[in-house]
Amino acid sequence: MSPAARRASWHRASCTAAAERRQRLAAEAEAAIIAAAERDLAVPARVRGDASGGGVVSGASFPRIVRFLETTDSPGSSCPHCGADGRFILTFVVDDGRTLGAMRGCAKLFPVSQVAVEELRLRTKQSEYRKRGWTSLGRRDAEALAAIESFYAGARDERSALAIVRGAKAANIAGRRRCAVVSR
Ligand SMILES: [Zn+2]
Repeated sequence: MSPAARRASWHRASCTAAAERRQRLAAEAEAAIIAAAERDLAVPARVRGDASGGGVVSGASFPRIVRFLETTDSPGSSCPHCGADGRFILTFVVDDGRTLGAMRGCAKLFPVSQVAVEELRLRTKQSEYRKRGWTSLGRRDAEALAAIESFYAGARDERSALAIVRGAKAANIAGRRRCAVVSR
């Protein structure tokens, strides 16, 4: 094998290993993001459908969450919404402009805007990446987050911000497929 051919062969092998590693880490990060989003946002069906019994109030009477500000992990604290003992407290802005807090279980009772969901997803992804020692989100996700920020700053409308978010999601999926083909 010529030196050039050896170099090319080494390059192919290392590229493949790096691609596989990145792909595996990205898949892990996505799984963590999905778990976190489900934990924070999924409304249990029995709560949503059971407005009549047990003093449970349907989501329809709650103000709509338009932006998540932070999630704090404070064991032994009480829910700002109902006073029950809680650990993870979410702080968020609702559509009448108030900033409210609620523990995770109670936050699930509130309806949520699509932009708020996407921002929470991207910020969760960002913090997962940081935990893994990566410097930043990929270019597409960074653009999507910037579009959401400019929506909140009043410089972009919701529809165009969400279009960029959808484009980033589609590009991420296409990128992973391409990677899978290369590493096979
Ligand atoms: Zn509560």
